[in-house]
Amino acid sequence: MRFYTHIAFGLFFSGLLGVPFEFLPLLFVILGSVLPDIDYPFSFIGRLFPRISRQLYNTVGHRSVTHSVYVALALVISGFIFSDNPLLFGLTLGYISHLILDMGTPSGVQLAPPAGYAFTIFEGGVETGSKKEKLLAVIFIAGFILLLFFRGLLYSLIP
Ligand SMILES: [Zn+2]
Repeated sequence: MRFYTHIAFGLFFSGLLGVPFEFLPLLFVILGSVLPDIDYPFSFIGRLFPRISRQLYNTVGHRSVTHSVYVALALVISGFIFSDNPLLFGLTLGYISHLILDMGTPSGVQLAPPAGYAFTIFEGGVETGSKKEKLLAVIFIAGFILLLFFRGLLYSLIP
């Protein structure tokens, strides 16, 4: 998936799960939602940090360690330890949203390297750069905007 779809889904996903609608937590959501692709030199974040990106790509490969449950778990555990930190909360949700979205692509994600099995959410998947992906990005952004206005109402409906 492209970086803008990751950001859109990251904002929607973390908004749904209660990240504070404030500048810094949302900035950390955005950072978390693009960070796993640092293992790919041609990605948005890979271009910002070319040396680290090339190193990771050549040693572990794309959608491997940085897309694993290990990193996600480490973030979740740190989140429990520093439970009142909205920036870590945003980073963690953004990161997890990235892994979920990549599992929606045909090649999936190696959640538990070195086991090479790639996890996918559904058969076929959404191709990176396709019209379907662009449509998804628009839907996620629309969902996030709705949450900005109606999250309180949505939460009040949950017992
Ligand atoms: Zn990725």
